[in-house]
Amino acid sequence: MVNMENIEKTSPVPSWQQELQSAFTDIPSLLAALELGKDKLNGSQLANNTFPLLVTNSYVQRMKKGDRNDPLLRQVLPVAEELSTHPLFLCDPVGDSQASALPGLIHKYHGRVLVITTGACAIHCRYCFRREFPYANNSTQRSKLGVVTQYLSENPDVTELILSGGDPLTLSDSKFNHLFTRLSTSPQIKRIRIHTRLPIVLPSRVTKGLLNTLCSSTKKVVVVIHANHPNELSDEVADVLRLLKNNNVTLLNQTVLLRGINDNAKTLIALSERLFECHTLPYYLHLLDKVNGAMHFDSSLKKAYKIHAQMQKKLPGYLVPKLVCEEAGQPHKIIL
Ligand SMILES: *Cc1c(COP(=O)(O)O)cnc(C)c1O
Ligand code: SF4
Repeated sequence: MVNMENIEKTSPVPSWQQELQSAFTDIPSLLAALELGKDKLNGSQLANNTFPLLVTNSYVQRMKKGDRNDPLLRQVLPVAEELSTHPLFLCDPVGDSQASALPGLIHKYHGRVLVITTGACAIHCRYCFRREFPYANNSTQRSKLGVVTQYLSENPDVTELILSGGDPLTLSDSKFNHLFTRLSTSPQIKRIRIHTRLPIVLPSRVTKGLLNTLCSSTKKVVVVIHANHPNELSDEVADVLRLLKNNNVTLLNQTVLLRGINDNAKTLIALSERLFECHTLPYYLHLLDKVNGAMHFDSSLKKAYKIHAQMQKKLPGYLVPKLVCEEAGQPHKIIL
């Protein structure tokens, strides 16, 4: 049975979809909400043209007013630095286009396939390696689910499905339920993993319907959230993560190392501690993928090693994420 505790009482009146529709999409409104001036707007607007601003009000509530360097704001605010190009910063740095087995299906690593369920997200992270991914040709349309199940039957060694995107939890309860239940029918699949930022950026997304779908599965369910900074893990987020855990979901977190946002041991140690309070284990600490427009977030490899070593000194082993990077053409993520 679905374990809801008292979520009905605590969830806000507007549904998560209404909240998503009223997310911030223009720079001046976001700056006004944070009591920030509108200087340096030209470069921001230009950067916005290639990858538009999108951020939920819930996430904005966790930012500090009047602070342009707020670590959550910097993850979402388009800035002029994004216009700088560099020959080593590419549109498809991790080689996903090459690894596409079918439109919307990426089979890069042994035993698991990644299904691109949608191109939509509830937040646009400026450093995202998919910021230039051609979603229009590459998501699994409802009608093509049969093609995925066909692919699985031809590849019996695949035992784990990874639902990604975009963000699979931007799909409505009924669409998500259809997809999840349909994909769950493959007997070879042991685990279904969902990569999502929604429990963090839109905690109201964790609805009774969603929990029902997840806990009625005969497969092991893993949810990998994506938090980069402890300020992202508000009490409301902690509540929905507890609900997921109480419905037998294994919770892991991945973080991207971002210059000026979390590239110091103190912040990342606090993040690991807070994640554990939220029933979530740190999984990966990714070096930034070298995607066009994200150069200003790049921290050096030397610094990454140093921070990771400091984390190992201060934390129990299970709270130290693996430091990894992704290289096109490799059979797994590279552990550094
Ligand atoms: C990262 C990734 C995975 C998952 O890798 P794990 O090491 O199992 O977390 C699977 N497929 C693709 C295409 C990926 O990019
Ligand atoms: S795919 Fe993930 S990291 Fe990229 S913009 Fe969407 S939520 Fe952010």
